[in-house]
Amino acid sequence: MFSKILIANRGEIACRVIRTARRLGVKTVAVYSDADARALHVQMADEAVHIGPSPVGESYLRGDKIIAAAKETGAEAIHPGYGFLSENPDFVDQVVAADLTFIGPSATSIRAMGLKDAAKRLMEKAGVPVVPGYHGEAQEIVVLASKAREIGYPVLIKARAGGGGKGMRRVDDPDDFAEALSGARREAKTAFGDDRVLVEKYVDKPRHIEVQVFGDNYGNAVHLFERDCSAQRRHQKVIEEAPAPGMTPELRAAMTEAAVTAAKAISYSGAGTIEFIVDASQGLQADRFWFMEMNTRLQVEHPVTEMVTGVDLVEWQLRVASGETLPKTQDEISLNGHAFEARLYAEDATKGFLPATGTLHHLKFPDVPPQDASMRIETGVRAGDSVSPFYDPMIAKLVVHASSRETSLAALRDVLAGTEVAGSTVNTAFLAALASDRDFSAGDVDTGLIGRHQDALTALPLPDSTAVAAAAFAASGLNERQASNDPWSGISGYAHFHGLEREIRLKYGEHEVPARLMTGTDGAAVRLYGEIVKRAAVKDQRVARWPGHVTVFEGAVGHTFSVSDPLGRADEALAGTGSLRAPMPGLVKVVRAAKGENVTKGQPLLILEAMKMEHTIAAPHDGLIADIAAEGEQVSDGTVLVKFVEEA
Ligand code: ADP
Ligand code: ADP
Ligand code: MG
Repeated sequence: MFSKILIANRGEIACRVIRTARRLGVKTVAVYSDADARALHVQMADEAVHIGPSPVGESYLRGDKIIAAAKETGAEAIHPGYGFLSENPDFVDQVVAADLTFIGPSATSIRAMGLKDAAKRLMEKAGVPVVPGYHGEAQEIVVLASKAREIGYPVLIKARAGGGGKGMRRVDDPDDFAEALSGARREAKTAFGDDRVLVEKYVDKPRHIEVQVFGDNYGNAVHLFERDCSAQRRHQKVIEEAPAPGMTPELRAAMTEAAVTAAKAISYSGAGTIEFIVDASQGLQADRFWFMEMNTRLQVEHPVTEMVTGVDLVEWQLRVASGETLPKTQDEISLNGHAFEARLYAEDATKGFLPATGTLHHLKFPDVPPQDASMRIETGVRAGDSVSPFYDPMIAKLVVHASSRETSLAALRDVLAGTEVAGSTVNTAFLAALASDRDFSAGDVDTGLIGRHQDALTALPLPDSTAVAAAAFAASGLNERQASNDPWSGISGYAHFHGLEREIRLKYGEHEVPARLMTGTDGAAVRLYGEIVKRAAVKDQRVARWPGHVTVFEGAVGHTFSVSDPLGRADEALAGTGSLRAPMPGLVKVVRAAKGENVTKGQPLLILEAMKMEHTIAAPHDGLIADIAAEGEQVSDGTVLVKFVEEA
């Protein structure tokens, strides 16, 4: 076994690899970019090396810097994780040339499977069923269009260098072929620098079922059963599971045998996945599955396989790469129970799954597994960390395991309902809706399911009056006063100015919420549109307060409200004076800009903590800062926080 390895990745997968390495007594070296200087993987590793600025092209894709870091720290091997350099055969060659071990397959194996067209030709030769289609060299539109006619519509145009669902177009009508082809080419050129494509039969009622394979350096290869990844949006996986629902012994035998044949055909060493497309229009049939591609790395969804087989795939990767034989024979690998993985992303499901960014001001996962189930939360972030625009916006993988599919899915729903994220838009509610979808629950999945049910899956329920009231209490600071029995304590200070009732300025999306906080001898209450909600009615509501906002959690749904400055003076305070004044007494908590700095309109300059809330003070216009308050300074109402250099 190695004594020290370097992990050429970030986020959850880097943390995942470190955990197993540590258990095996292997020391770890992390690499990081500027944006990741304080990232969890850096903190977890025994050592860490800075490899460059935040963009991946200047850091995580810089093979030379990564190899130099390994040499410098005395690491003997490099684990690539997934994505980044994991399927780059030139990098593998460089690693080997530097006298280091690549924890993964040989460059030759990666090259054999790297291009989808060549891989398909190779698999055809090995006797593995491949999707009917054209995977030859010709790229002229006339040839491709006539091949498409021969194959029969609908067809799928795919980038031969493709990955992550990019460079792919389904075509239903020959008239649309030319336009779809140019679209696929454009996308492929941008994403992979290679615009060559293949054309395939679009499989009816397609299910994505893949087989985990593992090989060693001595010609042994085994499979670790299948995963179903049919729950997809835009050809990208959303919830994966093992085993595949409705799998028959015949199909499993045929698929796993084909997968092992494929692995052996390229003398595969390490963890790999053979992806198949299955025609489920007549149920699962042993002669209706075809090879799609091989991913020559650890897959994002590998934990579901670990849950049902009890095998630590990263441990196997380290053992095999260090020269050991496969830890188990095929007969010793068995399938137990059912596992799901849901990918928690910073993205807006209501806006076409647009990736989101932001600071995860609040991040909480259930700390005990649901009844009759086990749970694994794979994450690379902590509360307070940011989802930056530089990298994949995945926040965590929520993995559950139980004895049956039903219990396991119920456990996944529980875990989703107990997950709280505030500070960025996330897909928790969408995942929960999918986990409760009738067809999905029945195991009746295909890759079109999410698309067909998209409206229902992405519709967000509106907050009810209890949720709005909870937001109003939180915005007023009252929720923080739970320890106190005195109903008056929460508004002490206000009474002086406002009497016993005051307005809480909340917005839900674009909508102003007219909430008034009231107190009386029988406690506090919130008045909304004439309805009165007592403090006691919302005391169990889960709420997170973060700068300028409140998020109220109801099941897997997080309702986020923005909170205007309670005195409504933040904006007025600035107008035309050349200086920005404190709208209320408070503490300057964070200063984000400096004297002499040019700032742009809307840029956050500092955070003022006042009335138990944080208020972000942003630049009212572009300008040069002449002076700015110091962090930790106590300011009174009207104090100048920021002075701008007056324009001539
Ligand atoms: P497939 O390649 O078949 O879509 P996966 O869903 O396992 O298989 O992986 C999708 C790809 O998306 C990975 O190869 C990786 O490049 C990228 N990816 C997904 N999540 C992340 C992440 N958190 N960090 C980096 N890359 C990621
Ligand atoms: P990538 O490298 O982007 O992962 P794949 O070839 O693995 O590309 O295909 C991604 C997804 O596209 C599959 O999981 C499946 O949902 C869909 N797909 C691919 N090929 C076909 C096909 N021939 N018919 C129907 N759907 C397909
Ligand atoms: Mg794929």
